[in-house]
Amino acid sequence: MEWETVIGLEIHAQLNTSSKIFSAAATAYGAEPNTQACLVDLGYPGVLPVLNVETVRKAVKFGLAVGATISRRSVFARKNYFYPDLPKGYQISQYELPIVEGGEVEIVLEDGSRKRVGITRAHLEEDAGKSLHEDFHGMSGIDLNRAGTPLVEIVSEPDMRSAREAVAYMKTIHQLVRYLEICDGNMQEGSFRCDANVSVRPKGEHAFGTRAELKNLNSFRFIEKAINFEVERQIDIIESGGSVSQETRLYDPNKDETRPMRSKEEANDYRYFPDPDLLPVVLDDAFLEQIAIGLPELPAAKRQRFCAEYGLSEYDADVLTTSRELADYFERVVASSGGDPKLAANWVMGELSGALNKAGLDIGASRVSSAALADLLRRIADNTISGKIAKEVFEAMWEGEGAADDIIAARGLTQITDSSAIEQIIDEVMTRFPDQLGQFRDGKDKLFGFFVGQVMKATSGKANPAQVNELLRRKLAG
Ligand code: ADP
Ligand code: MG
Repeated sequence: MEWETVIGLEIHAQLNTSSKIFSAAATAYGAEPNTQACLVDLGYPGVLPVLNVETVRKAVKFGLAVGATISRRSVFARKNYFYPDLPKGYQISQYELPIVEGGEVEIVLEDGSRKRVGITRAHLEEDAGKSLHEDFHGMSGIDLNRAGTPLVEIVSEPDMRSAREAVAYMKTIHQLVRYLEICDGNMQEGSFRCDANVSVRPKGEHAFGTRAELKNLNSFRFIEKAINFEVERQIDIIESGGSVSQETRLYDPNKDETRPMRSKEEANDYRYFPDPDLLPVVLDDAFLEQIAIGLPELPAAKRQRFCAEYGLSEYDADVLTTSRELADYFERVVASSGGDPKLAANWVMGELSGALNKAGLDIGASRVSSAALADLLRRIADNTISGKIAKEVFEAMWEGEGAADDIIAARGLTQITDSSAIEQIIDEVMTRFPDQLGQFRDGKDKLFGFFVGQVMKATSGKANPAQVNELLRRKLAG
């Protein structure tokens, strides 16, 4: 029997506002436990939540970017459940009337194929606190700093058919929220995480199978592994005559398996009802227009423009638009080197990205600025140095030895383009290797490379390679 996997993701993206969604407490990560929780976050009786309008702006930004319908009227609801890190006994979320409905994104798979994934809805909600099971003499601690942190929960349609597609979708949304600057995307800190809903069905079957929900996956690698494990588990159950139960499971990266956490609640277990402390959120045209005007160029549009404007391949455009920072850096290099975009692309994706990776730095912390790299590329374009020597210069720039021109001058790296000087060196090399010269002239063509190597060696790599080739060909022929 052939099986088909069905996946829908619920992504929680923490909105990067400086204060919480319903209180003025700070949201900064990593503070001492319970130093950033005010009475509203603690759920004291008699306090009232006040909506932070920045969270609304950011959710709308997301909705517009995925072509969704922005609800002119959305409603906050109480989702009731007991949890030690949820002091109010309910979470303020949106249920029947979310702020964003519909929309879609296009994902690009590793083989270059594309697919659309539908967005069901995206709603605003508050995060809960955190239970800390560290060393508290056998007890757990509660940290309410995270309580009330704003989240946008992005719910996808069950459109994905493999773990790979789920990862590609997650990466697409991750890239998008970072482009929109509504979420810092930091997965280690939990600012971007997802629940994966996974089911299997016989291939060709129309109805969906029973799903399990894999909670709180916060790395792209774990999402893929957790889904793959879960798919195998479900197929095994069904093939041995059992049935999958609808439940919430946790992925354990150490054992690479998912384990049951609790049976899945139905929506009516939560007794959702409109929060009487909060007015419906009513948005007018002016509000939406203002946000629409402020939208940045989105990843897909940027990719297309990079292909059209700079003549880059789809692959190059894809890599260079990974983040806004990288794309901006690349465009600044092209603009100030006034040169070949393909050369700039190769350098940004090659030497520069390599050096950043090795040093574990983001593009924003690059030790070589876009202007400095542009200066270097200009020296390749005007034949002052060869591409090979430029790599040496780049390394020196990275190590802080100064600007390209200074390094070229200090190390005497200027390319030799004077034909008579190159010819003289060729003559010397020919005199030094009479045997090889004889063999070459007897037809051993392969020795051409040997002579190129000797001339480059004699000039410490500084002779212009094209000229060396041309002059050697002439002289060796005799
Ligand atoms: P909840 O998890 O809150 O009960 P929903 O019914 O809204 O919520 O579904 C949550 C997610 O589960 C959505 O992303 C949806 O696409 C996905 N989903 C629903 N049914 C299935 C299924 N049978 N298999 C896989 N994913 C599913
Ligand atoms: Mg869910």
